[in-house]
Amino acid sequence: MSGLAAARELRREGHAVTVMEQSGDVGGQWLYDPRTDGDDPLGAKAPVKVHSSMYASARVISPRECMGFSDFQFVPRPGAGGRDRDARRFPGHREVYCYLRDFCEAFGLADHIRLNTRVVRIAMQAPPPSRDDARSRSGGGYSDVKWKVRSVHVEPDGGGGEAAEVAVEEVFDAVVVANGHYSQPSLPSIAGMDTWQRRQLHSHSYREPGPFRGEAVVVVGCGDSGMDIATELCGVAKEVHLVARSVEAATTPPPMLSKILANHSDIHLHPQVDRLCEDGRTVVFADGCRVAADAVIYCTGYTYSFPFLDMGDGLVTVRDNRVGPLYEHTFPPALAPSLSFVGVPMRVFAPWLFEAQARWVALVLAGKVALPPEEDMLRAVQEDYRAREMAGVPTYHTHDIPAFDRSEIWEFVYRHSDLPRMEEWKAELFWTGFMNAKDDRDTFRDREDDSENVREGVGRWRCVSGAQYEAALAAARGGF
Ligand SMILES: Cc1cc2nc3c(=O)[nH]c(=O)nc-3n(C[C@H](O)[C@H](O)[C@H](O)COP(=O)(O)OP(=O)(O)OC[C@H]3O[C@@H](n4cnc5c(N)ncnc54)[C@H](O)[C@@H]3O)c2cc1C
Repeated sequence: MSGLAAARELRREGHAVTVMEQSGDVGGQWLYDPRTDGDDPLGAKAPVKVHSSMYASARVISPRECMGFSDFQFVPRPGAGGRDRDARRFPGHREVYCYLRDFCEAFGLADHIRLNTRVVRIAMQAPPPSRDDARSRSGGGYSDVKWKVRSVHVEPDGGGGEAAEVAVEEVFDAVVVANGHYSQPSLPSIAGMDTWQRRQLHSHSYREPGPFRGEAVVVVGCGDSGMDIATELCGVAKEVHLVARSVEAATTPPPMLSKILANHSDIHLHPQVDRLCEDGRTVVFADGCRVAADAVIYCTGYTYSFPFLDMGDGLVTVRDNRVGPLYEHTFPPALAPSLSFVGVPMRVFAPWLFEAQARWVALVLAGKVALPPEEDMLRAVQEDYRAREMAGVPTYHTHDIPAFDRSEIWEFVYRHSDLPRMEEWKAELFWTGFMNAKDDRDTFRDREDDSENVREGVGRWRCVSGAQYEAALAAARGGF
């Protein structure tokens, strides 16, 4: 999503664009990959070999009406592509992939994408100039540098293997990093984890419930993946033990989790794991309770990872899931605007917010929008950190927009781009979906209780945006 958004916006501003994509197709996380990091199911080695962490049954968590690019909406196309298409409001992952493929086609992006091409190193071309010499009117001290990008060809079915002989080094005026952040597992540190004999994996390597049939499974983490996977294992696994963050969280679970437990009496909630025992079978929880487990699945989230960035100097770092410093989650002040990041923000409307970031980057690189001086950008980053800290927001939520108030999402978009305003019915639909999920996660995707306002909005949207979608595709196919 982020890379495609960047490519489109940069092209629109007349830049020459090369997208380097390690997979054999577009789609990123939405390109379902049945393979897993077989020899490293925990994903403890960085970088992981398989990019997509998508499990077979995954459906989107926000309504499709809120999941589109501003002028190429994610409308249902039940007639197109036959069985491939999924017209539901909360479709399965393949529908998002099909949509992104259509987006590429509609905006002629395919010719600019080099598939099976993995970026292995990004570095400044020459030793950085004296920062005072290079200081430009806006952006950071290294804003005039060029970038050396080294890439290797990846065999399409090579499971991550690289053909070293085809390494290529090229120089670019600017680099937009858009490599996603749902691939590199964030693992807890639990006593006995290193030596436990039975199956341990991260949700990054979970695809289907079948392999857990008849097993006693411990699912660590009650986020989206943890709740989805625990629910899916019910009726397949012999026992499902879901693990909360703390004793308090297990004693008084939030309403969404309480409802899941009420709906699935075979899911047992526990406080955090205290240790995995030497007998290779027993899992002990913080309240002293023990279970005999066949498998532990860590649904403990992901961490930002940029193994290819060779910055030196600590100009861009990742600490406790904070990528920093990044001005408005996008530009490293010292390196702006020639280095930028699209797709870092969390808890946002994707790809809408990424589109806004991409538009901002493209306009800055075209010289149509100026960034503040480096010191001002750095100060703004520090102020954001301080405000979050004072509000008790943990560092690992640094890139959550909103931090305090949901309106921060659209304020971000309007501050940095000229994208059209989000219609009021869409915001209503989004927050109703959010509240419905809290109310009952098992059923929220299939509820049909739209308000009159939303029904009208959806009707108009299907008509107008549907026509816009077909027209863009027809134009790309030479139909107009
Ligand atoms: C199980 C699951 C469910 C999700 N559900 C939702 C949902 O319902 N709604 C939602 O909005 N989001 C959801 N997400 C988040 C989802 O990741 C984002 O919506 C979206 O995919 C982010 O797009 P992106 O382009 O930033 O990253 P990605 O989709 O991860 O794309 C990054 C791309 O960069 C490529 N790449 C990475 N490193 C390199 C390299 N070194 N060289 C070349 N190419 C490289 C990858 O191959 C990939 O194609 C979910 C994620 C997961 C794992």
